[in-house]
Amino acid sequence: MDLNSVLKREPAMLIGGSWVESDETRPVINPADESTVAEAPEGDASHVEAALEAAQKAQRSWGRRSGVGRGAVLRAVADGIRARQEELARLVVAEQGKTITEARGEIGAAAGFFDYYASFDRAQVGSMFAPDEAGEQLFVKSVPYGVVAAITPWNYPAAIFARKVAPAIMAGNSIVLKPHENTPLAALALAGILEEVGVPPGIVNVVTGAGPIVGDALVRHSLTQMVTVTGSVRAGREILAAAAASITPVSLELGGKAPFIVLEDADLDAAVQNAVNARFWNCGQVCTCNERTYVHRDLYDEFVERFVERASSLRMGDPMREDVQMGPKVSEPELVKVESFVEDAVRQGASVALGGGRPEGEEFEKGYWFEPTVLTGATNDMDIVQNEVFGPVLPIQAFDDFEEAINLANDSPYGLSAYIFTRDLNRAMRAIDDIDFGEVYINKIGPEQLQGFHTGYRLSGMGGDDGPYGYERYFRRKTVYLGYDPSTVDEAPSDLG
Ligand code: NAD
Repeated sequence: MDLNSVLKREPAMLIGGSWVESDETRPVINPADESTVAEAPEGDASHVEAALEAAQKAQRSWGRRSGVGRGAVLRAVADGIRARQEELARLVVAEQGKTITEARGEIGAAAGFFDYYASFDRAQVGSMFAPDEAGEQLFVKSVPYGVVAAITPWNYPAAIFARKVAPAIMAGNSIVLKPHENTPLAALALAGILEEVGVPPGIVNVVTGAGPIVGDALVRHSLTQMVTVTGSVRAGREILAAAAASITPVSLELGGKAPFIVLEDADLDAAVQNAVNARFWNCGQVCTCNERTYVHRDLYDEFVERFVERASSLRMGDPMREDVQMGPKVSEPELVKVESFVEDAVRQGASVALGGGRPEGEEFEKGYWFEPTVLTGATNDMDIVQNEVFGPVLPIQAFDDFEEAINLANDSPYGLSAYIFTRDLNRAMRAIDDIDFGEVYINKIGPEQLQGFHTGYRLSGMGGDDGPYGYERYFRRKTVYLGYDPSTVDEAPSDLG
């Protein structure tokens, strides 16, 4: 594909309004055929320093603009993204491997984040309290942090860019974003659109490169006032530890291990279809994916049979093709990780009901392909049920009653999303109360909606993204005690006696 149509240049980092190349580069590999899509700049601590300084310099005047002024810029970004939707979608397919249909949805979502956060242009920015003294005012203002650092993963390289950048800059911050090493191009292309539509130089900066070098330098730098991360638990722990030195606030969106519970009164057709979609979208590489399905024993055999039938008919292949429903894994290490999860599960006693390995055929000779896979006979203590697989593999287990299902679901170090299919209102409500996850879906699956709050419990993170609660993360508070009339004093209380 002609990358220059959307990147408009050889991939370069956007730092303080200038496009910066680096001496070292890293190849961006197309996961469908292992071809090199482009060479991306490999940034280092000096690029981080330059980007943070530019961000700090630019932030004050941006933060002083009215909300309406900033909102107008965000709306222009949304329009700019929509105008390039097809080129951006193709770029995401080339570097990440999701299908073109999914990639178009991702770009639509990226534009949606800018439109949605623009709507906060006249939102409340503080609260007023009755002061203790007359002739005074007491108010608590919401103020931007200043410079925000964002670190993003490879599974939604465009949408997660927007999920971080839109609320951060709407709140009046500037931002330095580091995309994942495997998928830097969408962020660079989006940065180009932001520049084109008039986001001032230095407000949004993108530095590409390694997590432990560029990411770590961003987190530790004294100019960074807040860190927002989406990624693995491993990276989240390292970032939290690095931020501890300077007590920098961190918002973490980490892994998931969503349970998908099907009670005996569920609409079986809807449950099967949704369970398939929630497992195999983006080749199983979504933090809200159905990672473990629990089905009431009365429905279990029929559910497994129908699930296997649907999963086996998924069309896998070149993700640029309109008719393809599942692309490859993102990288060789990710493919090997999924393979070893399946091998270990089988060694521990699970049985393969579908798939189980790399597909055969000329189309799959190159690239990081894994078949849709279904496992039966798994138990909750197995690695495949306890750890995030992030690939097209589903263990399905049977349970006997509602309480057991809830206990199996809660028996997890993760706590992001959970799904329940039932027609029984009483049990749906009890599940909402008793499921210890930050996001619960009843009789439906995601994606999440802009106004919700995407938040994980336990290892799944702290803080959260989206909606007004996600927006709050980009502000700190400032309390103002304002004396304006020292001559005003309270009347002495009258003698009521
Ligand atoms: P990853 O942890 O490998 O990388 C995420 C980012 O962190 C990358 O930019 C990486 O370079 C950076 N990084 C890694 N180590 C670092 C360090 N020591 N210091 C600073 N930065 C560092 O994650 P990934 O493989 O890109 O993404 C997949 C993971 O992301 C999955 O676990 C998935 O569940 C999770 N995820 C979560 C959400 C959510 O909203 N909860 C959404 C999407 C993905």
